[in-house]
Amino acid sequence: MIKLEGVTKVYKTGVRALNDMNLNIDAGEFVYVIGPTGAGKSTFIKLLYREEKATSGKVLVDGRDVSKIRNSKVPYFRRKIGVVFQNYRLLPRKTVFENVAFALQVTDTPRRKIRNRVRKVLQLVGLEDKANAFPHELSGGQQQRVAIARAIVNSPKVLIADEPTGNLDPDTSEGIIELLQRINEVNGTTVLVVTHDKIIVQKYKKRTILIEDGCVTSDTSLGGYDN
Ligand code: ADP
Ligand code: ADP
Repeated sequence: MIKLEGVTKVYKTGVRALNDMNLNIDAGEFVYVIGPTGAGKSTFIKLLYREEKATSGKVLVDGRDVSKIRNSKVPYFRRKIGVVFQNYRLLPRKTVFENVAFALQVTDTPRRKIRNRVRKVLQLVGLEDKANAFPHELSGGQQQRVAIARAIVNSPKVLIADEPTGNLDPDTSEGIIELLQRINEVNGTTVLVVTHDKIIVQKYKKRTILIEDGCVTSDTSLGGYDN
């Protein structure tokens, strides 16, 4: 589902964020991406949804060479990928329902279908009773659940979560990780979680990729920090 072949990213400033990175992630995997600040984790995921382009090497997502997608086709490509961030990035003046429906409205899905689909994902994330609430009326964990609902409403093949629990307390964080695992198991979605949370990586053992100095320095199916 995701393949990097000799990927290097040098920013305009001259910073070499990724240096000959190689990686293979199969469809249906659940993977943690860990590593120190500045290691290149965010750059890696930005390449996957074409927020940035590789300087050299190949980035393949679902068999497509991402750097070859024309700019006009990028929005279509991005529907294959759901992304969730540490700070939720919800639209503050829209309700929970509208925040989630928004991603479908841009695809001209009929209104009745939109309603049913939004209800279904809100149920999956446990927020069916908050459809009419505004983001500021929700806790951080609830806001992250809305962001996850929005990210999966188009049934993406890949779900990327960049520090999804970075602003949450330990119990709430575990609930979010359990939700991401349920989406992985129930929908077969390939899930990537960038995290600094050692407790989570050690508790919910999954394949764990360590990025240091712009390349993969450890890749273990046992999970946990072994260094
Ligand atoms: P991480 O997510 O692991 O903290 P990043 O991918 O954000 O690492 O950053 C890797 C390196 O690239 C860092 O040195 C960072 O300062 C640099 N960097 C990230 N984004 C940019 C950018 N847009 N322009 C220039 N340098 C950047
Ligand atoms: P967060 O930690 O919330 O992910 P970051 O600090 O990593 O945010 O990055 C915020 C934005 O600034 C990103 O778009 C990133 O690409 C950019 N950025 C990060 N480091 C640099 C840098 N050294 N020079 C220029 N832009 C950078």
